[in-house]
Amino acid sequence: MERVYNFAAGPAAMPLEALETAAREMTCYGATGMSVMEMSHRSKMYLAIYEETVSLVKELMHVPDSHTILLLQGGATQQFAAVPMNLMTGSGRADYIDSGNFAHGALVEAQKYGKVSAVASSREDNYRAIPAWDAAKFDPEADYFYITTNNTIFGTRYAALPDTGRVPLVADMSSNILSEPYDVSRFGVIFAGAQKNIGPAGLTLVIVRNDLLGRCMPITPKIMDWQKQAENGSMINTPPTYAIYMAGLCLRWLKKQGGAEGIEPVNIEKAKLLYDFIDNSRLFRGTADPASRSRMNVTFVTDSPDTDAEFVKQAAAKGLVNLKGHRLVGGIRASIYNAMPIEGVKALVEFMKEFERHV
Ligand SMILES: *Cc1c(COP(=O)(O)O)cnc(C)c1O
Repeated sequence: MERVYNFAAGPAAMPLEALETAAREMTCYGATGMSVMEMSHRSKMYLAIYEETVSLVKELMHVPDSHTILLLQGGATQQFAAVPMNLMTGSGRADYIDSGNFAHGALVEAQKYGKVSAVASSREDNYRAIPAWDAAKFDPEADYFYITTNNTIFGTRYAALPDTGRVPLVADMSSNILSEPYDVSRFGVIFAGAQKNIGPAGLTLVIVRNDLLGRCMPITPKIMDWQKQAENGSMINTPPTYAIYMAGLCLRWLKKQGGAEGIEPVNIEKAKLLYDFIDNSRLFRGTADPASRSRMNVTFVTDSPDTDAEFVKQAAAKGLVNLKGHRLVGGIRASIYNAMPIEGVKALVEFMKEFERHV
């Protein structure tokens, strides 16, 4: 069977080149005579793979020496708890912007460990926009300030970041990391589940400013203590070895595209193709506020849930798969991460035109 255009929100499409390299190396990696999956994580040959992935993250995100890169397990969701457990030990307070379902989940998790303030929220508006914030409401003594740079379910993205002064900015970047350049030095912590824009599921990237290490609560499980992980090269226990290898292959591909700087204009063009068509369509309508639109997750609806479902079904028959919106919002969502080629977006727009003509 031919490969389809996979618009899944995550786990999501990966670069074909990375998959083909992995296939070639599946049973025998280099001169080792074994699969990467069969290697000891402490072996010299595996450590070389690990180091390459870390150095590609450092290079492609321009991570300064002031920050440490960790490759962990547990998903972004584990970091919802790790963030307060590692940081909420000064005033015991943190500010959150409640911009979506994952932001809300992180906020609720943090309430177990300290006093959380939602300084801005679009929850009442079903998260159709990044909420406006009033910097006067920010707590200057907060241990950190938390945002979700791209809201995967609702299809929104921060066009500008809040200025939090001396309070460390913590960002869940799971669904738009490496899709555009970010100045890492502006952040105290960045984390991301790998399965959207980095590689396969099972790996979580955490980037921590060094002065924020060593502040954790005494109850913090060792495995979630960033400082302990940093001291142990992310190997307190067995890391997700194969996912780290696959992420490295995907990052090699991204480097060939010119890194985040090279892929950003392509991502802007892909998103524009879809939004321009939606804005001029008589059938389809975008659901996110235009000023907050995501470049990674494009959410839209037709005039009825039945037509939405029919669209998703007919699109799948044409090899345009996983377009169903998240169960919390319904409708249609096209996730167009780095690995989705522009040809896939063009094929989707062509099919939308055809569908619109026939209903
Ligand atoms: C997918 C996603 C998560 C959840 O990631 P897991 O790795 O499954 O825990 C959290 N935040 C955002 C923004 C996401 O897109």
